[in-house]
Amino acid sequence: MRFATYKRTASAGRNKFDLASIRAIPLRAVAIDLGFGLTAGGTGRCRLPGHDDRNPSFSIRSATNRFTCYACGENGDVIDLVMKMRDISFVDACEWLTDRHLGGASVRPEMGRRPAGRAAAAKRASSVSAKAEHAVAPDHEAFEWLLLDSKLSSSGYDYLASRGFSAETIAHFRVGQIGDRGKAMRKAVARFGLERLRRCGLVCDGKFGDRFVFPAGYLLFPFIIDGNVAYLQARRPDSGTQWRWLCPNSLLPPVFNRSALTDGTATISICEGVTDVVSAHELGMPAIGLVGANARLEDATLDLLRGRNVAIFGDRDAAGSRFARHLVDRLAEIGVTAIPKRLPPGADDLNDHLRRVRGLLV
Ligand SMILES: [Zn+2]
Repeated sequence: MRFATYKRTASAGRNKFDLASIRAIPLRAVAIDLGFGLTAGGTGRCRLPGHDDRNPSFSIRSATNRFTCYACGENGDVIDLVMKMRDISFVDACEWLTDRHLGGASVRPEMGRRPAGRAAAAKRASSVSAKAEHAVAPDHEAFEWLLLDSKLSSSGYDYLASRGFSAETIAHFRVGQIGDRGKAMRKAVARFGLERLRRCGLVCDGKFGDRFVFPAGYLLFPFIIDGNVAYLQARRPDSGTQWRWLCPNSLLPPVFNRSALTDGTATISICEGVTDVVSAHELGMPAIGLVGANARLEDATLDLLRGRNVAIFGDRDAAGSRFARHLVDRLAEIGVTAIPKRLPPGADDLNDHLRRVRGLLV
């Protein structure tokens, strides 16, 4: 069987891992690594599979190093969180945590000594994001190739049309769609090799060996920076709520639709997420988007906002209000006045509004 050669070395038993050190890895660092956006107090929207959290219900107790979601009721330690988020076994979760947060001490001893305990684990975990960014980096060529190889099907097109997006808008954002997952992975591996796909986050450790991060049928939204595909975000092609958005493993998203800032537009909108940016474009408003845990604006983007009128569209919820407040403050620091916009009555986000305008929601 062809995939057999892609498998990593077999998982060993529990005694291979330093469970005390693993359980001492700060839950906050692990949650952020898994894509949670958290406040300084350790709360945020729950991103556990099956829970589409509109209000922040997820909370970390640093005293016990455990998490609880007050909406879906899930709770546990770092190992539980990784098992649930990545849909992997206890052993695989321990291996993943050791690899990423303990410097791979128990699986690759030559890479560093085993941490002594909680303090060492915390020290290593604090450098995790820097380490992850070194390990995984955007691969413009591989992303561009995948996008070109992933043609939008009629079902994907129909779904986008149901969200109120025109053919022009769909073409403008170069939306693609994964066909068969296994076939896409085999073609990509044949073209770029497995290691290169791992280094750009398109392949990660799955339950049954190497896994292509984008499932069959998912829509692909490219993030284009200076003409290069710098990131890909994938969305379920239907209204199901489980695994709605998927992205390359360990890669932080840049700003979405940054090319909206390269022309002389006087007024620019900043939205929460990809769908609202596409909706804003459809409504005739040039917009950029900040995605997920990355509600930060890089310096290059901040520079491009100077001298413009900035409107902010956050979702109609507490997290949306925080998103707007944070941006107003950040932009004020560089002398840009940003105005938080109120969504029209009955619309929870810009896409709601667009669909009402188009008569797709009643
Ligand atoms: Zn939850």
